[in-house]
Amino acid sequence: MNVDTSKVREITRVVTAHRQREGAGFMVRRPLPSQGFDAADPFLLLDEMGPVNYGPGEAVGAPDHPHRGFETVTYMIEGEFEHEDSAGHRGTLRPGDVQWMTAGAGIVHSEMPSARIREAGGRVHGFQIWVNLPARDKLMRPRYQELAAASIPSATSENGLAQVRVIAGEVLGAVAAIDTRTPIVFQDWTLKPGADVTVRLSAEQRGYVYVFASAVLLGDDATEVEEGQLAALGDGGAVRLRGHAEAIAPARLLLLAGVPLNEPVARYGPFVMNTEEELMQAVYDFRAGKFGEITRSAVIG
Ligand code: MN
Repeated sequence: MNVDTSKVREITRVVTAHRQREGAGFMVRRPLPSQGFDAADPFLLLDEMGPVNYGPGEAVGAPDHPHRGFETVTYMIEGEFEHEDSAGHRGTLRPGDVQWMTAGAGIVHSEMPSARIREAGGRVHGFQIWVNLPARDKLMRPRYQELAAASIPSATSENGLAQVRVIAGEVLGAVAAIDTRTPIVFQDWTLKPGADVTVRLSAEQRGYVYVFASAVLLGDDATEVEEGQLAALGDGGAVRLRGHAEAIAPARLLLLAGVPLNEPVARYGPFVMNTEEELMQAVYDFRAGKFGEITRSAVIG
């Protein structure tokens, strides 16, 4: 491949996410997969959870369920989520925290709004992204990485108008603390009015931008992408992000990028493998209890 590394990437495709109910009934916007956007190798799914204001007793999540063959990444903007899994990992995600869970060979986990929010109500807003694993890693031992907001590397453009939190990858001198199996970029950008920043993005990676507040101008073409839209970027070695000069609020976006695995994808609900046989084996192994179960210690008192 012969790509000019200074070439700014332009948009090749845009999809608008629609709100729908998922799991036990929580609202998501799901631009991926959706009609017109069914493949974004190595990304399998992008869900924006909420934002939603729950009343007391209203908040719902995703109780015990399995995964095999990929990674689930949860990033909280507002609210709290509690996680427990069959590998013994446990954590509470608060605003700005990230959890990178590698299901690998198989895991059962529970993802619920915190007990406090379930009881008293509250606002929940966050993301879940599914990152595919290469065939060689699909049956790896489950892994769990969790980072508190304060530990996520961040950077600011020279003029202070663009800020980025680096969950995966590297930009403006900030290097992510999360370890990924293949080179992944996951950045949360805030663009103040008039922000105009151009950053490098490896030519080997496919790039995607999801806008979740206000609107962003992408590329030298300054194509506008609005809240709730996912854009695929074309070839190049750089990404240019701009906020409208006359915007009344900062724009927010996720910049995602990854090297395509270019492997067959066999997908059935919470299992993502390479072949139908491997999928059947996943269902069989789960039903046979091979993913284990969540150990919940009784409260003694
Ligand atoms: Mn899950």
